[in-house]
Amino acid sequence: MIKEIHSKTILNHVRQPDTWFGLKYNMNLYRGCQHQCIYCDSRSECYRIENFADIHIKVNALELLADALPRKRVCGTIGFGSMNDPYMPIEKEYNLTGRALEIIACHRFPVHILTKSDLVLRDLDTLREISQVYAAVSFTITTADDDLAAKVEPGAPRPSARYQAMHALAEAGITTGITMMPILPFLEDTVENITQIVTQAHENGASYIIPAFGMTLRAGSREYYYDKLDKLFPGLTEKYIQRYGDSYQCSVPNWRELDDVFRRLCSRFGIAVKIPVFQPEKVSKRKDDKQMRLFG
Ligand code: SF4
Repeated sequence: MIKEIHSKTILNHVRQPDTWFGLKYNMNLYRGCQHQCIYCDSRSECYRIENFADIHIKVNALELLADALPRKRVCGTIGFGSMNDPYMPIEKEYNLTGRALEIIACHRFPVHILTKSDLVLRDLDTLREISQVYAAVSFTITTADDDLAAKVEPGAPRPSARYQAMHALAEAGITTGITMMPILPFLEDTVENITQIVTQAHENGASYIIPAFGMTLRAGSREYYYDKLDKLFPGLTEKYIQRYGDSYQCSVPNWRELDDVFRRLCSRFGIAVKIPVFQPEKVSKRKDDKQMRLFG
């Protein structure tokens, strides 16, 4: 089901410091996600999203954003993509992310986009403009294997398409890298997978990789994930239950070995293992009086 809704607010403050993603603010233009990754944490009961497959479109988001940005006293990085993918297929039709970026460019705020989609290339020109302040695009890649990705991230563009998009962004001078998370226990926790992800990152212009060797599971996301495992990888659920019980943090058993391989490869290729972050600054002096192109 696709439904248009009105939201009360659009920009949320991120608890500081955000050492993982360098965000000051966070924004979700949609609710629910069409990429339907089987491991998605946004299905957790604590978020109270009744049916994660239903897509809600915040049709007043751009007005809210245009109203909120001039009021911000601190210019800090705005994140896209914490609870859904800002470039899921419906974005082709609504262009909320694209138009939000134009508003952000006018107000000269920095952005960090997290996505699994090559649709981000549609907004290359706007990102180039924002990158005069700061723009980073992180592609989430959990496996370099397109066939495995088709099973665990069924609605998202394949990793090969993400790498191609990364290449194009890097060529255009946009800071780009990888959020290598989650790494699914017993499915993606091999030296070969980590080696392939990092090597292809290097070949396609990634300047950083943010790693996490494991996944999180909690009420809501756990049941959905186990149900999918039963259908796609029979027998695996039992291994998870035996190893992790009700744990929220589920590190892969060989995380030390994988972390070692990861760090050695990144060091060899000159890839940072953290994102270079924008330092927040007072916003009042930074505004330009550029004509707003809100809804053009
Ligand atoms: S792209 Fe992200 S938000 Fe969307 S289903 Fe996958 S993990 Fe969840």
